[in-house]
Amino acid sequence: MEEFVSHSKRNGQSVGLVPTMGALHDGHLSLVERAVGENDITVVSLFVNPTQFNNPTDLATYPRDEESDLRLLSGAGATVAFAPGVEDIYPGGVENRARKEFDLGTVAEVMEGKFRPGHFQGVAEVVSRLLRLVRPDRAYFGEKDFQQIAVIRRMTETEGIDVDIIACPIRRADDGLALSSRNALLTPEQRAIAPEIHRALAGSVDYARSHSVRATHDTVVEQIEGVPGLRVEYFEIVDGRTLLPVEEWEESPWIVGCITVYCGDIRLIDNIAYKK
Ligand code: AMP
Repeated sequence: MEEFVSHSKRNGQSVGLVPTMGALHDGHLSLVERAVGENDITVVSLFVNPTQFNNPTDLATYPRDEESDLRLLSGAGATVAFAPGVEDIYPGGVENRARKEFDLGTVAEVMEGKFRPGHFQGVAEVVSRLLRLVRPDRAYFGEKDFQQIAVIRRMTETEGIDVDIIACPIRRADDGLALSSRNALLTPEQRAIAPEIHRALAGSVDYARSHSVRATHDTVVEQIEGVPGLRVEYFEIVDGRTLLPVEEWEESPWIVGCITVYCGDIRLIDNIAYKK
């Protein structure tokens, strides 16, 4: 991988990187297509990163389908599929790797940071290693993982990694459910109720125009928890830059509602912009 990139760079070719954990769907492919349009070389990494899973069952059941991934990537025009083994990314293995604590600031402490301890340290670890290895001009991330983008921007600043972080919009199924590799784990009954998450969020944008932040928060939670089988882990209405909760709509020019919902045992995340 390093030799290939060095060669491309010597030829003056620009490099885009799309980091993924595989089990690719149209959400991933929208990032790949954007990267293909903006770079000479597009590298897509496929790596289920063990260090970002705080729940061993989640890691063990994470969907994998390399054959389908490779087919989809060649169809989307990616130049390289980079599917390293754990030892390639963590020489000596996960247990013996040189650990370091990333300074991720307050953006990593709230929401996912609170409910998935260690998750963002693992994300920072793998993304920093991939960025140092592939040395892309641009790296592409989906807004579905809204907080992750803020954490990665912070990591590249504190680590001094020179790369443009490009945020790409959320791709949804026709019924509104945000596409996710974990959707493959839903039973047909769970899949049928999961779109209520986006329905509640989308409906609340109009509601928010004539109601307070608190009332908007409560109506979303009530609507989702009104569906048997859905349980809200958190719903926070936050400043899009600091990710800290807002109390009034006038507090910030950029306000986003970020939610995590358990559909049975499957953890689904989504978000919606109230102001941008
Ligand atoms: P993952 O394989 O889940 O780690 O996701 C790899 C990248 O694809 C991340 O930057 C995600 O935010 C992005 N992604 C995942 N699902 C979607 C989606 N539905 N729309 C847009 N981007 C997505």
